[in-house]
Amino acid sequence: MSPTVYLVSGANRGIGLELVTQLAARDNVVVFAGARNPSTAKDLHTLESKYPGKVYTVKLTSPDVTDNKAVVAKIKEIVGRLDVVICNAGIMNSFVPSERVSLDDMRETFEVNVLGPLVLFQATYQLLKASSDSPKFILIASAAGSVEVGTKFPVPFLPYGTTKAAANWLMVKLHYEYPGLVSVPVHPGSVKTDMGTSAREQVPEIADAPMITSEEGVKGVLSVIDSAKRDEVSGPKLMNYDGSILPW
Ligand code: NDP
Repeated sequence: MSPTVYLVSGANRGIGLELVTQLAARDNVVVFAGARNPSTAKDLHTLESKYPGKVYTVKLTSPDVTDNKAVVAKIKEIVGRLDVVICNAGIMNSFVPSERVSLDDMRETFEVNVLGPLVLFQATYQLLKASSDSPKFILIASAAGSVEVGTKFPVPFLPYGTTKAAANWLMVKLHYEYPGLVSVPVHPGSVKTDMGTSAREQVPEIADAPMITSEEGVKGVLSVIDSAKRDEVSGPKLMNYDGSILPW
Protein backbone atom coordinates (compact mmCIF):
# COMPACT_ATOMS: atom_id res chain seq x y z
CA MET A 1 0.00 0.00 0.00
CA SER A 2 1.37 3.42 -0.88
CA PRO A 3 2.06 5.82 2.01
CA THR A 4 -0.21 8.69 3.00
CA VAL A 5 1.62 11.91 2.13
CA TYR A 6 1.22 14.96 4.41
CA LEU A 7 2.44 18.54 4.25
CA VAL A 8 2.31 20.61 7.47
CA SER A 9 3.11 24.34 7.48
CA GLY A 10 4.52 26.20 10.51
CA ALA A 11 6.08 22.98 11.80
CA ASN A 12 9.11 24.41 13.62
CA ARG A 13 7.38 24.56 17.02
CA GLY A 14 4.04 24.43 18.81
CA ILE A 15 1.09 22.65 17.24
CA GLY A 16 2.86 22.20 13.88
CA LEU A 17 5.81 20.40 15.45
CA GLU A 18 3.47 18.15 17.44
CA LEU A 19 1.48 17.36 14.26
CA VAL A 20 4.68 16.20 12.54
CA THR A 21 5.77 14.28 15.67
CA GLN A 22 2.51 12.33 15.91
CA LEU A 23 2.19 11.78 12.15
CA ALA A 24 5.78 10.54 11.81
CA ALA A 25 5.12 7.90 14.49
CA ARG A 26 2.43 6.34 12.26
CA ASP A 27 3.09 3.50 9.85
CA ASN A 28 3.25 4.12 6.13
CA VAL A 29 3.39 7.92 6.01
CA VAL A 30 5.62 10.54 4.44
CA VAL A 31 5.51 13.93 6.17
CA PHE A 32 6.82 17.17 4.68
CA ALA A 33 7.38 19.66 7.50
CA GLY A 34 7.40 23.31 6.50
CA ALA A 35 9.61 25.72 8.44
CA ARG A 36 10.67 29.30 7.71
CA ASN A 37 14.29 28.52 8.58
CA PRO A 38 15.04 24.82 8.10
CA SER A 39 18.70 25.31 9.11
CA THR A 40 17.66 26.18 12.68
CA ALA A 41 14.75 23.73 12.92
CA LYS A 42 16.53 21.39 15.37
CA ASP A 43 13.47 19.44 16.52
CA LEU A 44 12.50 18.69 12.92
CA HIS A 45 16.04 17.48 12.17
CA THR A 46 15.79 15.17 15.17
CA LEU A 47 12.58 13.74 13.69
CA GLU A 48 14.22 13.37 10.27
CA SER A 49 17.02 11.32 11.86
CA LYS A 50 14.59 9.24 13.91
CA TYR A 51 12.35 8.50 10.90
CA PRO A 52 14.62 8.40 7.83
CA GLY A 53 12.67 8.60 4.55
CA LYS A 54 9.49 9.54 6.41
CA VAL A 55 10.14 13.15 7.46
CA TYR A 56 11.50 15.89 5.20
CA THR A 57 12.01 19.47 6.41
CA VAL A 58 11.24 22.01 3.69
CA LYS A 59 11.56 25.79 3.57
CA LEU A 60 8.05 27.21 3.64
CA THR A 61 7.13 30.77 4.53
CA SER A 62 3.52 31.98 4.39
CA PRO A 63 2.53 33.43 1.95
CA ASP A 64 5.74 33.36 -0.09
CA VAL A 65 4.78 32.12 -3.57
CA THR A 66 8.35 31.15 -4.52
CA ASP A 67 8.78 29.04 -1.37
CA ASN A 68 5.42 27.35 -1.87
CA LYS A 69 6.20 26.48 -5.50
CA ALA A 70 9.65 25.15 -4.60
CA VAL A 71 8.17 22.91 -1.89
CA VAL A 72 5.63 21.50 -4.32
CA ALA A 73 8.37 20.84 -6.92
CA LYS A 74 10.35 18.93 -4.27
CA ILE A 75 7.33 16.87 -3.16
CA LYS A 76 6.51 16.10 -6.80
CA GLU A 77 10.03 14.84 -7.33
CA ILE A 78 10.10 12.68 -4.17
CA VAL A 79 6.57 11.21 -4.02
CA GLY A 80 4.53 12.78 -6.84
CA ARG A 81 1.39 13.58 -4.86
CA LEU A 82 -0.12 14.95 -1.65
CA ASP A 83 -2.96 13.35 0.30
CA VAL A 84 -3.34 15.78 3.21
CA VAL A 85 -2.19 19.42 3.48
CA ILE A 86 -2.41 20.92 6.98
CA CYS A 87 -2.24 24.69 6.92
CA ASN A 88 -1.06 25.41 10.47
CA ALA A 89 1.24 28.46 10.20
CA GLY A 90 -0.41 31.45 11.84
CA ILE A 91 0.28 34.54 13.91
CA MET A 92 -1.38 36.59 16.65
CA ASN A 93 0.50 39.85 16.85
CA SER A 94 -1.68 42.45 18.58
CA PHE A 95 -3.58 42.79 21.86
CA VAL A 96 -4.92 46.35 21.83
CA PRO A 97 -8.53 47.61 21.70
CA SER A 98 -9.97 47.95 18.20
CA GLU A 99 -9.78 51.77 18.35
CA ARG A 100 -5.98 51.51 18.51
CA VAL A 101 -5.25 48.53 16.24
CA SER A 102 -2.55 49.42 13.73
CA LEU A 103 -3.25 48.86 10.06
CA ASP A 104 0.22 47.37 9.76
CA ASP A 105 -0.72 44.67 12.30
CA MET A 106 -3.96 44.05 10.39
CA ARG A 107 -2.08 43.72 7.08
CA GLU A 108 0.66 41.48 8.48
CA THR A 109 -1.88 39.15 10.09
CA PHE A 110 -3.95 39.05 6.90
CA GLU A 111 -0.82 38.14 4.92
CA VAL A 112 0.01 35.13 7.08
CA ASN A 113 -3.42 33.93 8.26
CA VAL A 114 -5.42 34.43 5.04
CA LEU A 115 -3.04 34.80 2.09
CA GLY A 116 -0.91 32.01 3.63
CA PRO A 117 -3.67 29.35 3.31
CA LEU A 118 -4.70 30.67 -0.13
CA VAL A 119 -1.17 30.51 -1.55
CA LEU A 120 -0.65 27.08 0.00
CA PHE A 121 -3.85 25.83 -1.62
CA GLN A 122 -2.96 27.36 -5.00
CA ALA A 123 0.48 25.74 -4.89
CA THR A 124 -0.63 22.29 -3.70
CA TYR A 125 -3.92 21.74 -5.53
CA GLN A 126 -2.41 19.92 -8.52
CA LEU A 127 -0.56 17.51 -6.21
CA LEU A 128 -3.70 17.00 -4.09
CA LYS A 129 -5.55 16.06 -7.30
CA ALA A 130 -2.99 13.30 -7.82
CA SER A 131 -4.09 11.65 -4.54
CA SER A 132 -5.71 8.25 -5.03
CA ASP A 133 -7.91 8.92 -1.99
CA SER A 134 -10.16 11.96 -1.26
CA PRO A 135 -7.55 14.71 -0.85
CA LYS A 136 -7.80 16.84 2.29
CA PHE A 137 -6.96 20.51 2.69
CA ILE A 138 -7.15 21.28 6.42
CA LEU A 139 -6.89 24.62 8.21
CA ILE A 140 -5.81 24.86 11.83
CA ALA A 141 -8.56 27.32 12.56
CA SER A 142 -9.58 29.05 15.77
CA ALA A 143 -12.74 29.48 17.80
CA ALA A 144 -11.57 33.12 17.86
CA GLY A 145 -12.59 33.28 14.19
CA SER A 146 -16.15 32.19 14.95
CA VAL A 147 -18.42 35.23 14.56
CA GLU A 148 -20.80 33.75 17.10
CA VAL A 149 -18.24 32.70 19.72
CA GLY A 150 -14.96 34.54 19.05
CA THR A 151 -16.38 38.07 19.03
CA LYS A 152 -17.52 37.55 22.64
CA PHE A 153 -14.07 36.50 23.97
CA PRO A 154 -12.75 39.16 26.39
CA VAL A 155 -9.58 39.47 24.30
CA PRO A 156 -8.67 42.49 22.16
CA PHE A 157 -7.42 40.56 19.15
CA LEU A 158 -9.07 42.18 16.16
CA PRO A 159 -6.39 41.19 13.59
CA TYR A 160 -6.38 37.58 14.74
CA GLY A 161 -10.16 37.14 15.00
CA THR A 162 -11.00 38.79 11.69
CA THR A 163 -8.33 36.91 9.74
CA LYS A 164 -9.27 33.55 11.24
CA ALA A 165 -12.90 34.29 10.28
CA ALA A 166 -11.79 35.13 6.72
CA ALA A 167 -9.77 31.91 6.53
CA ASN A 168 -12.90 29.94 7.52
CA TRP A 169 -14.74 31.60 4.62
CA LEU A 170 -11.96 30.52 2.28
CA MET A 171 -12.27 26.92 3.49
CA VAL A 172 -16.03 26.82 2.87
CA LYS A 173 -15.55 28.42 -0.54
CA LEU A 174 -12.97 25.77 -1.49
CA HIS A 175 -15.46 23.03 -0.56
CA TYR A 176 -18.09 24.39 -2.95
CA GLU A 177 -15.63 25.27 -5.70
CA TYR A 178 -13.68 21.98 -5.79
CA PRO A 179 -15.86 18.83 -5.84
CA GLY A 180 -13.95 15.93 -4.35
CA LEU A 181 -11.84 18.09 -2.05
CA VAL A 182 -12.27 17.65 1.71
CA SER A 183 -11.80 21.20 2.99
CA VAL A 184 -12.15 21.43 6.77
CA PRO A 185 -11.21 24.04 9.40
CA VAL A 186 -10.33 22.49 12.79
CA HIS A 187 -9.93 24.35 16.12
CA PRO A 188 -7.16 22.65 18.13
CA GLY A 189 -8.40 23.73 21.58
CA SER A 190 -6.70 26.32 23.78
CA VAL A 191 -3.22 24.94 23.52
CA LYS A 192 -0.15 25.62 25.64
CA THR A 193 2.23 26.91 22.96
CA ASP A 194 4.16 30.17 22.56
CA MET A 195 1.03 31.71 21.03
CA GLY A 196 -1.36 30.40 23.69
CA THR A 197 0.97 31.44 26.53
CA SER A 198 1.70 34.92 25.16
CA ALA A 199 -2.04 35.66 24.82
CA ARG A 200 -2.49 34.83 28.52
CA GLU A 201 0.49 36.96 29.49
CA GLN A 202 -0.82 39.98 27.59
CA VAL A 203 -4.50 39.83 28.54
CA PRO A 204 -5.16 39.74 32.32
CA GLU A 205 -8.81 38.67 31.80
CA ILE A 206 -7.70 35.30 30.42
CA ALA A 207 -4.53 34.81 32.48
CA ASP A 208 -6.01 31.81 34.28
CA ALA A 209 -7.98 30.33 31.38
CA PRO A 210 -7.24 26.61 31.14
CA MET A 211 -4.99 25.25 28.39
CA ILE A 212 -4.47 21.75 27.05
CA THR A 213 -1.15 20.29 25.95
CA SER A 214 -0.11 20.22 22.28
CA GLU A 215 -0.13 16.43 22.57
CA GLU A 216 -3.80 16.36 23.57
CA GLY A 217 -4.90 19.03 21.08
CA VAL A 218 -3.09 17.40 18.17
CA LYS A 219 -4.34 13.92 19.05
CA GLY A 220 -7.86 15.32 18.72
CA VAL A 221 -7.08 17.29 15.55
CA LEU A 222 -5.63 14.19 13.85
CA SER A 223 -8.64 12.12 14.80
CA VAL A 224 -10.91 14.78 13.24
CA ILE A 225 -8.72 14.85 10.11
CA ASP A 226 -8.66 11.04 9.82
CA SER A 227 -12.44 10.85 9.80
CA ALA A 228 -13.09 14.04 7.77
CA LYS A 229 -15.35 13.50 4.76
CA ARG A 230 -17.21 15.79 2.39
CA ASP A 231 -20.67 16.70 3.63
CA GLU A 232 -22.51 17.17 0.34
CA VAL A 233 -25.79 18.05 2.05
CA SER A 234 -24.97 20.72 4.60
CA GLY A 235 -21.41 21.66 3.63
CA PRO A 236 -18.29 21.88 5.80
CA LYS A 237 -18.37 22.55 9.54
CA LEU A 238 -16.02 24.41 11.86
CA MET A 239 -14.75 21.39 13.77
CA ASN A 240 -13.49 21.33 17.33
CA TYR A 241 -10.55 19.05 18.25
CA ASP A 242 -12.88 16.89 20.38
CA GLY A 243 -15.09 16.10 17.38
CA SER A 244 -17.85 18.56 18.32
CA ILE A 245 -19.00 21.30 15.93
CA LEU A 246 -18.43 25.00 16.65
CA PRO A 247 -20.77 27.69 15.32
CA TRP A 248 -19.51 29.80 12.41
P1 NDP B 1 3.12 29.21 17.77
O1 NDP B 1 3.26 30.69 17.79
O2 NDP B 1 3.54 28.44 18.95
O3 NDP B 1 3.83 28.61 16.46
C1 NDP B 1 3.55 29.19 15.21
C2 NDP B 1 4.28 28.46 14.13
O4 NDP B 1 3.93 29.11 12.90
C3 NDP B 1 5.79 28.54 14.27
O5 NDP B 1 6.36 27.34 13.82
C4 NDP B 1 6.16 29.69 13.34
O6 NDP B 1 7.46 29.60 12.76
C5 NDP B 1 5.14 29.51 12.23
N1 NDP B 1 4.95 30.75 11.48
C6 NDP B 1 4.62 31.98 11.93
N2 NDP B 1 4.59 32.84 10.93
C7 NDP B 1 4.90 32.16 9.79
C8 NDP B 1 5.04 32.49 8.44
N3 NDP B 1 4.85 33.74 7.98
N4 NDP B 1 5.36 31.52 7.58
C9 NDP B 1 5.55 30.25 8.00
N5 NDP B 1 5.48 29.87 9.27
C10 NDP B 1 5.13 30.82 10.16
O7 NDP B 1 1.57 28.95 17.47
P2 NDP B 1 0.64 27.66 17.70
O8 NDP B 1 1.43 26.44 17.48
O9 NDP B 1 -0.11 27.85 18.95
O10 NDP B 1 -0.41 27.90 16.51
C11 NDP B 1 -0.45 27.11 15.34
C12 NDP B 1 -1.79 27.34 14.67
O11 NDP B 1 -2.84 27.01 15.57
C13 NDP B 1 -2.03 28.81 14.28
O12 NDP B 1 -2.64 28.86 13.03
C14 NDP B 1 -2.98 29.31 15.36
O13 NDP B 1 -3.79 30.35 14.91
C15 NDP B 1 -3.79 28.05 15.66
N6 NDP B 1 -4.44 28.05 16.96
C16 NDP B 1 -3.71 28.03 18.12
C17 NDP B 1 -4.35 28.02 19.34
C18 NDP B 1 -3.62 27.95 20.62
O14 NDP B 1 -4.28 27.98 21.69
N7 NDP B 1 -2.28 27.84 20.65
C19 NDP B 1 -5.82 28.06 19.44
C20 NDP B 1 -6.48 28.10 18.16
C21 NDP B 1 -5.81 28.08 16.97
P3 NDP B 1 8.80 30.07 13.56
O15 NDP B 1 9.06 29.00 14.56
O16 NDP B 1 9.81 30.17 12.48
O17 NDP B 1 8.50 31.39 14.20
